Amino acid sequence: MPIQEQHVQREDPPPFRLDVQLHDLLTKAPAPRPQLLPSNGDGKFPEPVFPQHPDLLAQDDNYEENLASAKAGKRHWNASLVYRAVNGWMFPYMKSRVLPGPFHPIIAYLFTEWKCNLDCHYCWAFDNSVKGMTEEVAKRSIDWLHSTTCRVLAFMGGEPLLRPQLIHKASYYAAKKGFWIYLPTNARLLRPDVIDRLADSGVAIFNFAVDAVDEKPGLAKALTPVRKYFDYLIRKQYKYGYAVFFNINICRNNLEDVKQLTEIARDHGIATDYHLNESPMIEQDHFKHYDENDTFIHPQDFAKVDELVDWLIEKNKSGYKMVNSVKRLQDMKAFMRGKVEPWNCRAGQNSIIIRVDGTLAPCFPMYSATHDWGVIENHKFEVPQLNEMKKSCQTHCFSTLNHNLGFCYNDTRVLKWVMKQAGHGFQGVSGSFA
Ligand code: SF4
Ligand code: SF4
Repeated sequence: MPIQEQHVQREDPPPFRLDVQLHDLLTKAPAPRPQLLPSNGDGKFPEPVFPQHPDLLAQDDNYEENLASAKAGKRHWNASLVYRAVNGWMFPYMKSRVLPGPFHPIIAYLFTEWKCNLDCHYCWAFDNSVKGMTEEVAKRSIDWLHSTTCRVLAFMGGEPLLRPQLIHKASYYAAKKGFWIYLPTNARLLRPDVIDRLADSGVAIFNFAVDAVDEKPGLAKALTPVRKYFDYLIRKQYKYGYAVFFNINICRNNLEDVKQLTEIARDHGIATDYHLNESPMIEQDHFKHYDENDTFIHPQDFAKVDELVDWLIEKNKSGYKMVNSVKRLQDMKAFMRGKVEPWNCRAGQNSIIIRVDGTLAPCFPMYSATHDWGVIENHKFEVPQLNEMKKSCQTHCFSTLNHNLGFCYNDTRVLKWVMKQAGHGFQGVSGSFA
């Protein structure tokens, strides 16, 4: 019996969310994966200097005073950090509005790994049989992105810190080229010496992914096993000038943990970003936990999740720092019930992903699609194909980044944001204009 029908019979979440017709179109493309052309360069990053900023390494953290300012919403950003954020987001946006043609990436996700050291039961975004990105492909990717409008580089996996030296080299190289760098991690390998190196190289944001306070079945991303690393990371953020936020996936079995993590973030003056656990957009052959998955949200959980979302909205309104707007939090309830209104997805035009082998796709949910969108140095994104595809996938998709990007891809909203920032000396600039 097809897996889709088995899941309907058992009332499990479906194995993929796309309409069957589009799913088949995107995953049964007859063409083999496109290949990269041979490289002209030596394929190596320059050896990063460390420390580039010995003064920062030696400087007192001044943590308590800075934490008090951050909690009062008055974190100080010096001129070079403000410039780093504006250069990463604002200038590429402006260029994308005035340059001819439809392909002007603002943010790129560089999948340096498709392996992971953990096994979160909802996660299909790793396969430990797949080799990581070579140094050559990573360097060529950054060089190619630099030749476009893109100046926001997000490392992705799997777990990017499986090879901390590669990430250090890549972030050092990219920061020198003016990229604003974003690092998501499960933090198991985020040792203090790794934090110092990455911060010194220019990482702007650490996305600290955590789903529970203590590890529980199916949810491996817990705070307790990495508590020492977390404490070090948040102490050093003010002197290095990076920001930290918790990235929390709301599952059926961590509703209390979500509240506790929210309060811990609040106590430490950092923001939170929430996602709603979802089954894969596209069926994943390598995903082991389709059956009897304790993390997926079922209809009988909706009321409890609604209650949690209402709690989060209240906290948001009372001043807790959150990446999600009140509207986005509210929309989670409808998404959980399978309702998403069409929206302005910019994937494939202003945001892209680069897979470990250098092939391209518009977004993370499409990582496993076999459709040919080209390779670095030779993209094949075409607006008619993207538009046709999005007629269907937008109504199944809750991608936070792409929703934020779509919402902000609007001159009036951007202008308002700039005026607001200018009004308080750009001291609210911590990254995106979402
Ligand atoms: S740590 Fe991240 S990549 Fe690894 S299994 Fe968990 S969610 Fe997936
Ligand atoms: S709506 Fe956009 S981000 Fe979501 S799956 Fe479709 S192309 Fe990707």
